[in-house]
Amino acid sequence: LMQLYMPLNFLGMVYREIKQALVDMEIMFGLKDQPPEVADHPGAGDLAVEGGTVRFEGVRFAYGPDRDVLRGIDLEVPAGRTVAIVGPSGAGKSTIGRLLYRFYDVTGGRVAIDGQDVRDVTQASLRRAIGVVPQDTVLFNDTIGYNIAYGRPDAPWEDVERAARLASLHDFVTSLPRGYDTAVGERGLKLSGGEKQRVAIARAILKDPAILLFDEATSQLDSHTEKDIQAALRQVSAGRTTLVIAHRLSTVIDADRIVVLDEGRVAESGTHQALLDQGGRYAALWRKQQEAQDLEARLEVAARDP
Ligand code: ATP
Repeated sequence: LMQLYMPLNFLGMVYREIKQALVDMEIMFGLKDQPPEVADHPGAGDLAVEGGTVRFEGVRFAYGPDRDVLRGIDLEVPAGRTVAIVGPSGAGKSTIGRLLYRFYDVTGGRVAIDGQDVRDVTQASLRRAIGVVPQDTVLFNDTIGYNIAYGRPDAPWEDVERAARLASLHDFVTSLPRGYDTAVGERGLKLSGGEKQRVAIARAILKDPAILLFDEATSQLDSHTEKDIQAALRQVSAGRTTLVIAHRLSTVIDADRIVVLDEGRVAESGTHQALLDQGGRYAALWRKQQEAQDLEARLEVAARDP
């Protein structure tokens, strides 16, 4: 029986790994994208992660022949640091995340992790090293506990609960009558966008990758949820190389460096304060967002006391 069990167990592991990779791709890139042909080079070795320094060197990229989306991007996320990418809609922010995960190959330059071109290593090892917190997380028709544990299906229960605490989910889950056994999905509990993103953060904490790719939700979250997400992100990004794709500006203040993209190029970069002082594009984006938030707050007050 043991002779049968060992290979079956191995197959199970391989199956889970493939399934995880597929789910990662699905959630990261949305179903609208056609999976392109990205294959391992013959004889590609595994990525050897040291600190997990990410570098984009003169990266150019086009989805099709008509238009370059990225036109020579140089950026570095030093090991353990957090860099946030901001910029107007369509600037190419999410594309940067897709290239790091090697969902597409660059058309010029290179993306490297600890000096290794992502095209030269196996995709399985690359994707093991990167935890993705996507904009929209896929939940399975199963319990909330299962959905959280999915980041590492063989994790001991204490670890799952610890991850849920760090992702500011534990109190919410235990407030449900059936706790971690609550069914989610079509016929169960519906999670809000913010809660789903926290499930993804808990999964990433369990996966414990050297590199974290956080794709902030596009939709506006209420300020309480926003704070919870920020706190969770701080927890998961501590000590990991983190690239935040910021569609709003709320998560970027803490970043070690903010990179402002515009029309496929780096327009400016620096800390939040340095960029505000500079009075350029970032400062303008920030002002615009503050004004929108003030307006929203006034509307909320007006709705409460007409
Ligand atoms: P947003 O903040 O609105 O999400 P973004 O900065 O993340 O925008 P990207 O999603 O990186 O922008 O897209 C950059 C450009 O590439 C856009 O013009 C977009 O229309 C185009 N694009 C994105 N995905 C594809 C695709 N799969 N095929 C063709 N063009 C694409």
